[in-house]
Amino acid sequence: MSTDPSAAPLYPLFADLRGRAVLVVGGGSVARRKVRALLDAGAQVAVGAPALEPALARLAATGHVRYHRGPFDPAWLDGAWLAIAATDDTTTNRAVAAAGDARRVWVNVVDDAALSAFHVPARIERGPVQIAISSGGGAPMLTRHLREMLETQFDASLGTLARLLARERERIRRTLPDVAQRRRFFDRLLAGPLPRLLRQQRTRRAQQVFDAAIAADTTRTSAGSVVLVGAGPGDPGLLTLRGLRALNEADVILHDRLVSDEVLQLARRDAERIEVGKQAGDHGIGQHGIHALMLARARAGQRVVRLKGGDPFVFGRGGEELQVLRAHGIDYEVVPGITAALACAAHAGIPLTHRDHAQSLRLVTAHGQDSLDMLDWRALAQERQTLAVYMGVALLDTLQSQLIAHGRSPETPFALIENGSRDDQRVVTGRLLQLAESALAHEVHSPALLIVGEVAALADELHWFGDKPLQATPQPRLEKAA
Ligand code: SAH
Repeated sequence: MSTDPSAAPLYPLFADLRGRAVLVVGGGSVARRKVRALLDAGAQVAVGAPALEPALARLAATGHVRYHRGPFDPAWLDGAWLAIAATDDTTTNRAVAAAGDARRVWVNVVDDAALSAFHVPARIERGPVQIAISSGGGAPMLTRHLREMLETQFDASLGTLARLLARERERIRRTLPDVAQRRRFFDRLLAGPLPRLLRQQRTRRAQQVFDAAIAADTTRTSAGSVVLVGAGPGDPGLLTLRGLRALNEADVILHDRLVSDEVLQLARRDAERIEVGKQAGDHGIGQHGIHALMLARARAGQRVVRLKGGDPFVFGRGGEELQVLRAHGIDYEVVPGITAALACAAHAGIPLTHRDHAQSLRLVTAHGQDSLDMLDWRALAQERQTLAVYMGVALLDTLQSQLIAHGRSPETPFALIENGSRDDQRVVTGRLLQLAESALAHEVHSPALLIVGEVAALADELHWFGDKPLQATPQPRLEKAA
């Protein structure tokens, strides 16, 4: 019988139960779950109990399991390889454990580590791949937590990958008879684009990549690629799981300054990080520099992550970067991110659309006088829509006066959200006619997002994150401070 779980670790094993007799003692829902799992593993299951719950009774009636009716009888264990005691009666469970011990039949007592000769681990199944977790029976909540963590790390493509490798096993052994050579091949294969292609369900391309890898044998086959990843607004909780995976697979990360340290810390530790600048007034190595760097690294066979704040396709120049990659025949993919408008609205309690107030949303950029001149003010000034203005802090004066001049009511609510979703988030709310001066009075700095429209007023009512919204200053217009 098992002893103190802290004494010695359990010995893990995966048992082949096909065609082997297994006894389950108990006739309730726990027994039913155990029986199901055993049948899935191909075991010949017998169930023993005074009475069976309906699903078990059906399995017995249809001959899927044998049924021993009545109180536990040690003779039920005859011929069994394993047994599971799943009753809520401690005396019975003890009797099964003792009878199993006497006959050298492995017994698991559900939820009783001390009575169990073997434990059933928490597990994650992805096709033929199973990850089993045990804390030795001492901390089941911890194993459950670990399982949840691992569930999010591995998607169904892990099963697809395992099936592909199993299918190709003979060919791999034939082509690469040397073990060391095979190991190098697998390292390269699994670090390359294959897992990613399977994740994207591009199975044909995946097979081509596999075929090419095996044909190329020892020569280098994994071409470089670029993943354009949206890092979201800063809070790492708002990065997507796919974005996280890309960061974990990166050789090099080219990131904007807007990307938070917390997000960067999630990246593979030995990935090289290069800040490629871009904040108002400072263009870092410039867009051409970024293109050149991306191309050079991808051509050198590296997995490049191009990490951008928010979403790469919303005022992120992601389109231009992909055009360059396409023109040079570099493989790429795009992982969306939560754009500032969505993150700021959520964290300020502002629904961007609302049945009563706004039926449409416009994402607008205003990062310089030129871009302001190109805006269609008449359209922007229309009622019943929400404007989300990116990069507008320096030009709020113009925004305010143009919207009012083109017919938007001076009483239209606005909200300015600085450092949205971050610890230091600040929200200023008020009416359009107060916009520029309240930004000045509250010293709102970049990055900040402006929301204009009736919905902005809801921030005062619905705010939930960080401090309450600051109110616009009612005082008369200050003479320009700068
Ligand atoms: N691709 C990004 C936008 C880049 S433009 C996205 O999808 O969010 C940069 C502008 O985005 C900033 O000037 C600011 O207006 C806005 N922004 C980005 N992160 C922000 C944040 N955490 N809080 C407020 N505004 C933000």
